[in-house]
Amino acid sequence: MKAEIFSEKSPSESQKKRFEEFLERRYGAPAELEWVQSDEYPGGFRLRAGDDVYDWSAEGRFAQLKGALSAVSEKQGNIIPLLRSAVEEWNPAAEAEELGKVLSVGDGIAMVSGLDRVAYGEIVQFACGVKGMVQDLQRERCGVIVFGDCREIAAGSAVKRTRKTAGVPVGEGFLGRVVDALGNPIDGKGEIRADDYRPIEHPAPGIVERSPVDKPLETGLLVIDALFPIGRGQRELIIGDRQTGKTAIALDTILNQKGKNVVCVYVAVGQKAGSVAQFAKTLEKHGALPYTVVLAANAGDAAPLQYIAPYAGCAMAEYFMYRGKDALIVYDDLSKHAVAYRTLSLLLERSPGREAYPGDVFYLHSRLLERSARLSEKMGGGSLTALPIVETQAGDVSAYIPTNIISITDGQIFLETQLFFEGQRPAVNIGLSVSRVGGAAQTKAVKRAAGSMRLDLAQYRETEVFTQFASDLDSTTQKQLSYGQGLVRLLRQPQFRPYSQTEEVLLLVCALHRMLLGVPPERVSAFARGMIDYVLKQYPGLSSEISAGELSDEAENNILSAAAEYRAAAEKKR
Ligand code: ATP
Ligand code: MG
Repeated sequence: MKAEIFSEKSPSESQKKRFEEFLERRYGAPAELEWVQSDEYPGGFRLRAGDDVYDWSAEGRFAQLKGALSAVSEKQGNIIPLLRSAVEEWNPAAEAEELGKVLSVGDGIAMVSGLDRVAYGEIVQFACGVKGMVQDLQRERCGVIVFGDCREIAAGSAVKRTRKTAGVPVGEGFLGRVVDALGNPIDGKGEIRADDYRPIEHPAPGIVERSPVDKPLETGLLVIDALFPIGRGQRELIIGDRQTGKTAIALDTILNQKGKNVVCVYVAVGQKAGSVAQFAKTLEKHGALPYTVVLAANAGDAAPLQYIAPYAGCAMAEYFMYRGKDALIVYDDLSKHAVAYRTLSLLLERSPGREAYPGDVFYLHSRLLERSARLSEKMGGGSLTALPIVETQAGDVSAYIPTNIISITDGQIFLETQLFFEGQRPAVNIGLSVSRVGGAAQTKAVKRAAGSMRLDLAQYRETEVFTQFASDLDSTTQKQLSYGQGLVRLLRQPQFRPYSQTEEVLLLVCALHRMLLGVPPERVSAFARGMIDYVLKQYPGLSSEISAGELSDEAENNILSAAAEYRAAAEKKR
């Protein structure tokens, strides 16, 4: 075999002999040694045999020792004896490294040659310490996306294989923290102790490992829990134009998980750093931060970080799911994620397809969302519910990314600008939203209470259209209109005010039994509130029955008789 030795000065005969012996021992065949003069390795040698590189330069040895020592500091226990043994056992000649060379670098992408056996998705390390991930394999070179500052990487410098795939630290310690896409804290609250390390890309659980979605994930928003219920393990898309309250729905859902033993992960992709900070602050203010991880790859961060952020967030949430817990993850938002991926792909010189996205952009999101699941009992019974968010342009749901994600998810909550400005907030378009599995996850109480609501609303919308220009209406139609109007009004809900399940059931029972009929629209909310407070005061036992998920005939009658009393009293006052 042939080997090359790089050094400043030609090695002496005895040194040459030692290299030859070393190579023979290692590869079991006599080696032909060739000396290449190079000023790059002062005070040492670099030996190259095939793809293997042995770094005996002063710089290389320092780097190896540094690696050995930092591996020690990650172990726990008394550090002094560990350090001593690490230094004593350190043998610079033992490890062969595969080294490549940076051809060009810029815009978060480095082109590297010489890493002949590198794998797709493998992490490589540049000489300056910055890491990157191989994302494009070609015959003579590979494209690496860089997780750090590209300006520190010099063309011509070395790149080392690590033989590891990308992963993030995970664990309980991340709850209550704001981290970047690599799991580093960015909230200034000090270091985070990780319990484990998980690959950011992980196969989704198979069919046998799953069980059906049958437990509700309560959002606390009446319109969603009653009409488009979400189950634990489900993926429900929140879609709408900019500034229609998409983030607000996710935020309220997180706030509503307080005390429900659900771990939340909020992944912010391509947003303003200020908005993310505001989000974290709101969580803290409402006591929701202790069970939430905020993972941010902001608009100012490089495209590679924005690209891996959802996967990293998913790995953090999966850690809890596979330990039998319930987790909720919000991806805010996947349209910006797709744009970051498009940027990367174009820089990697992949051919653009529809709307300039690369051909595998569907796979980008399907492999991410498929990782949400409700696990079987055998697997621990944990769950991961996903709320991806997508921004549309002028309400166009037929664009590329929205159609992709609509077809991957189990339903969508469609938000509309016009409703938002009419004051109907949350601005959910009831006709276009669906939840394909959540109905199975509603508790009996909510299911019974919500009963005919969807149908009633559909009827109301139809009647409304037909009677828009009619001047005199018969009393039945008028009643139906005012009933529908009341229902729609009831679905308005301010931010940060999630309803408990009991409140939702009471509101629904009263409304659907026409108890709000005749109340002026602008007073519906206050009236309904007063009514359910009164009912609860009359029958304090209701709360525990409904929280257990049941609603008996007797309870329903009690609610209705108390509601009628309240109504009569209110009418008398007027
Ligand atoms: P972007 O496209 O910028 O991400 P978005 O669709 O996420 O916007 P939000 O930021 O959630 O929208 O909400 C926009 C504004 O509407 C915010 O100021 C928020 O406080 C307000 N808002 C959202 N939901 C409600 C609500 N139910 N009641 C009152 N105000 C609301
Ligand atoms: Mg938003």
